Amino acid sequence: MDDAMKQMPALLARVRKDGFLLMLDFDGVLAPLVVRHDRARMLPHTRHLLAACARRGRIVVISGRSLSDVRSRVGLASVWYAGNHGAEWRMGKARGREKTSRAADAKLREARNAFIELSRRYSSVIVEDKKLTFSVHFRSLARSLVTQFRKDAERVAKRFRRVLDIAEGNEHIFNIRSHTSRTKGDAVRLARRCAPTKAVPIYIGDDMTDEDAFGALLRGITIRVGKHRGSAAHLFVRTREDVDTILSLLADH
Ligand SMILES: [Mg+2]
Repeated sequence: MDDAMKQMPALLARVRKDGFLLMLDFDGVLAPLVVRHDRARMLPHTRHLLAACARRGRIVVISGRSLSDVRSRVGLASVWYAGNHGAEWRMGKARGREKTSRAADAKLREARNAFIELSRRYSSVIVEDKKLTFSVHFRSLARSLVTQFRKDAERVAKRFRRVLDIAEGNEHIFNIRSHTSRTKGDAVRLARRCAPTKAVPIYIGDDMTDEDAFGALLRGITIRVGKHRGSAAHLFVRTREDVDTILSLLADH
C-alpha cells in the first residue's frame, strides 16, 4: 500500500482531464467513529467540503447503514447513495432495493431473534434492524465482557453460517446479511454504470465490508483509512481527517 497523499498530484492531473466519480463509506470516513453509532455525524466542515466536491464531480456515499439513515445523516440532495452494504440504492434515476426470497427473509429474522435473545444477557448490546440486513453493536460493552460476548456471538453465528455472512467490523460491530445479498462491490459497479464512463473512479473506505468495493475497482483509485495489511486497497491515508484534505483538493482541482 502506498501513501495516498504522495499520489495526489498525479491523481489530480487525471481528475482535471476526465473528472471523478468519488465513492465513500460513511462511518470512519466521512463521520468520526463514535461509541454510540446512532450519534455519528459529519462535521460541518466535512459537509461543506463534500458539497463543494459534488459541484465538481459525482459523489456516491456507500454505507452499511440503511439508505434512509445514511441519506439523512449526509443530508445533501446532490449526492447519490447506497445503503445496507449495497442492497438499497438511489443513484439518479436508478432507485431500488434488492428483492429477497421468503426463505432468506425467514433466516435473517431467525438470526436476528437469536441475537436479540443473546443481547438480553448483555445490557449495552444493541441489535439494529435495517430490514435487509442487521447489525449487532457492542461498542458500549464493558471491556471485561467483550471476550465472553464474542464467544457467545460466535456460537449463535455458527447456526446460520451456511446462509448468512457474519462479519466483524471496526469498533465492535457484527454486520449480518444473507450470503446472496448485494455488497458494496455491487454498489460500486452500479455507480460506474450510472456515472459518466470516463470519470476517474475513487473509493475511500475504512472497514472489512469496504474490501468488496476495493475488489470491484482493481484498476481504480482505492484508499483505505488506516494502513491495513491484506487490504485490496492500493493506497492508504493515516487518519479520517486526511479524507477532508482529499475532499478539499478535489473541490479545488
Ligand atoms: Mg466505515
